[in-house]
Amino acid sequence: MEWKNLKGTGDNQASKPWLDVWKERTNYKGDPPCGRKGCGKAATLGAHVIKVDSYDKSWYLLPLCDACNKLDDPFEKKENVPVAPAAK
Ligand SMILES: [Zn+2]
Repeated sequence: MEWKNLKGTGDNQASKPWLDVWKERTNYKGDPPCGRKGCGKAATLGAHVIKVDSYDKSWYLLPLCDACNKLDDPFEKKENVPVAPAAK
């Protein structure tokens, strides 16, 4: 399963950081690592991502670092970092 960053979601502001929303929805304790497989950095934000090549076009939240949030290419997700639904 590959994932891709959604573009143009910067204006889609919630009342709190998306990373906090992700933590609440996944019940994740502590500070997550960047969710991209192969990246060793800490997550700095909750990115909006979608599945590549899937009928499921829902938006999901995934913790990423700044660099990985700017990727245009699809990437693999770490299995131990879950996604959360982005819809309210
Ligand atoms: Zn990263």
